[in-house]
Amino acid sequence: MEWDKDAEQAVGTVPFFVRTRVKKRVETEARQAGAARITMEHVTACKQRSLHHQENEVQGFTVESCFGQSGCPNRIDTGENLSKRLESLLRAHNLKEFMQGRVSDPLKLHHEFRVTLADCPNGCSRPQIVDIGLISAALPARSDSPCSECGACLDACREKGITLAEPEPGPQFDWRRCLACGQCARVCPTGAIAQGLSGYRILLGGKLGRHPQLGRELSGIFSAETTLAIIDACLAHFKAENRHGERFGEVLNRTGLDFLAAYAHRSA
Ligand code: SF4
Ligand code: SF4
Ligand code: SF4
Repeated sequence: MEWDKDAEQAVGTVPFFVRTRVKKRVETEARQAGAARITMEHVTACKQRSLHHQENEVQGFTVESCFGQSGCPNRIDTGENLSKRLESLLRAHNLKEFMQGRVSDPLKLHHEFRVTLADCPNGCSRPQIVDIGLISAALPARSDSPCSECGACLDACREKGITLAEPEPGPQFDWRRCLACGQCARVCPTGAIAQGLSGYRILLGGKLGRHPQLGRELSGIFSAETTLAIIDACLAHFKAENRHGERFGEVLNRTGLDFLAAYAHRSA
């Protein structure tokens, strides 16, 4: 649906974690009213309705993704459609009903449990400042194919995480620098660098607000199955330890991460 420029700009100021939902809502309401184009009046009317009936908008959780699937060249394709599985998992935890039992006032959007997926370490969807942030990751691996010493991987690696070894030609990786972005394997013309272990990095307990904090990263790269198992454990912990509707990060500040000991320093 086409948008007037001022209407589009107004929605652009809405916080990113609810922007997609707000846009969809404005379009649905405008369509129901028979409009063929979104104007500023549609945005204002929708805003008024949302402000006064915010509890009806709350579904208890949000799952956001970056725009990687729209053709971003940086996207790491893990071969999984994790967003759908995340939504099913979060829905099964009935977080809206749970929070209603912990909060005395009507629920607001900031009570929602937020999960964000970024398809590369650039993190456009800001996985560092939500309850659970996921970052797609792909480690490079040396293959048996010869290295031509073309230097393409050195140029591609923004972390300066690769050197070409002497006297044997071939890439060496500095794992303290590597962010598992997958770019070196992508540009290597001979296949000397292949894609190794792929999956997700996991950040827990990030938030904004009065006392902002970045999510703490679990050590490792986890498969889709393990990632979902960890998130399931996190949601159970959140519900068991939440006293009065605080964010996941505040719960973790009190309890620590011992409940995830089975996953510590584990990969895949
Ligand atoms: S996080 Fe990475 S893959 Fe996603 S939109 Fe940003 S640059 Fe592209
Ligand atoms: S995966 Fe990315 S960060 Fe790691 S060595 Fe390759 S280009 Fe550098
Ligand atoms: S590892 Fe690949 S990209 Fe890097 S120098 Fe060798 S052939 Fe070129």
